[in-house]
Amino acid sequence: MVLIYSTPIEKWECAYKECGAKCCTGGREVTAGDIRRIARATGLKPEKFVHLEDEKGLFRLKNGDRCVFLNDDYSCRLHKRGVKPIFCRMYPFKFEGVIYADEIVLKVKVTDNCPGIGRGHKIGEDLEATIEELGNKFVNEIKDFLRLKGEGLSNESIIGRD
Ligand code: SF4
Ligand code: SF4
Repeated sequence: MVLIYSTPIEKWECAYKECGAKCCTGGREVTAGDIRRIARATGLKPEKFVHLEDEKGLFRLKNGDRCVFLNDDYSCRLHKRGVKPIFCRMYPFKFEGVIYADEIVLKVKVTDNCPGIGRGHKIGEDLEATIEELGNKFVNEIKDFLRLKGEGLSNESIIGRD
């Protein structure tokens, strides 16, 4: 389930060059599935780009104040490979937390001070449906991870699974 906390936005287009890719900070939250997809598409070993310790299925990309995949022109190295992490595909909504209850709930909120809000394409039900779909994918990947951990698998073997 996905909870979206925000006032409705009518238009949005990512203006990453203008804000210096403000959303692309180090420590982006990723799932084991994100890590697997990135590792396969780039040939990088997971330990090169992500901390391999998880917090209830949530991992974090490496680096200090900027993402390890951010280019100098603020573009994303993963974009053309089609393997941006689930949360990066949810912009302008950002991660707000996970509630671990009988049902796992993901909380997202429109990012603060985003110069892309009010510009570009009209946002309709399509974006909301996409956010919902991506959020549910995230929740399902967390659930799968927790199930496999419960069966005694290590983080490395879960990430390396087909
Ligand atoms: S979503 Fe907004 S704040 Fe984030 S990179 Fe795009 S324009 Fe910048
Ligand atoms: S993976 Fe790409 S879009 Fe996501 S935070 Fe890093 S540079 Fe930004």
